[in-house]
Amino acid sequence: MPRQSDATVDAAARPVPGSANVIAVHRLSLTYGSGASRVAALREISFQIRDGEFVVVVGPSGCGKSTLLKILAGLLAPSDGTAELKGEPITGPRRDIGVVFQTPVLFPWRTVLGNVMLPSDVQRLDRAVMQRRALDLLGQVGLGGFERRYPRELSGGMQQRVGIVRALLHDPAILLMDEPFSALDAMTREALTVELQRMWLQRRVTVLFITHSIAEAVFLGDRVIVLTPRPGTIGDAFEVELPRPRTLDAMNTERFGRYVARVRAALAGKGAA
Ligand code: ADP
Repeated sequence: MPRQSDATVDAAARPVPGSANVIAVHRLSLTYGSGASRVAALREISFQIRDGEFVVVVGPSGCGKSTLLKILAGLLAPSDGTAELKGEPITGPRRDIGVVFQTPVLFPWRTVLGNVMLPSDVQRLDRAVMQRRALDLLGQVGLGGFERRYPRELSGGMQQRVGIVRALLHDPAILLMDEPFSALDAMTREALTVELQRMWLQRRVTVLFITHSIAEAVFLGDRVIVLTPRPGTIGDAFEVELPRPRTLDAMNTERFGRYVARVRAALAGKGAA
């Protein structure tokens, strides 16, 4: 397997003067199992994420996206290389990392507010302060008035919004999102993608978003990192210079199409080097 070229590494890892790196990943590798059952899931991945940046990792199924996210969430230790949050090695789950999974994992016996407040209850944080923040965030994602409802009374899109609010409750240093809209129907998915951009423009939280949808990657990302499989390496990485807020109509423009073509070329092994 060819190693990622130096030019591609530079594009992924390039720091911007004056803005702090929240995440720094250096020559990160992960191999599952041993002997004949060894699977090299990631090989020598390097990139950085700046404060307030929205970075999307896109790649096909099996290219190591979830593995990368689990390492950054502190749920898996790398076989080699380093992953740092604000200059500190990530050695286990931490409070200042928010994670949104494919399905929101809500407790059916807790109300919307009860689910959002769960991390705060577990950690015995100031209830009044956290509840004010929870209600504010719920209002921002269009769930004002649904605080006392139960998950079964909500649509899939609304449940996923609850998951996002819960992950944001602590004001995390970074929000890790693992294909958060992939279980939703196409129209809800598009609506939530636009909504996520709006929320992000308001709060400017640092985001690492993982997807296998090329259009979603280009729509959401300040920067797109293309992961190619077996083992997962960076095929290309580039800034998306489309003005925000981006509308769904932007997807029909020639500029958008050029970014999509660039991702496809990288996935086909013809990435810019
Ligand atoms: P993605 O999220 O891009 O679909 P994953 O990170 O889940 O990819 O998986 C990357 C590769 O590692 C795949 O080939 C997958 O089969 C393998 N893999 C994932 N988890 C394990 C595991 N626990 N044990 C062995 N192999 C695994």
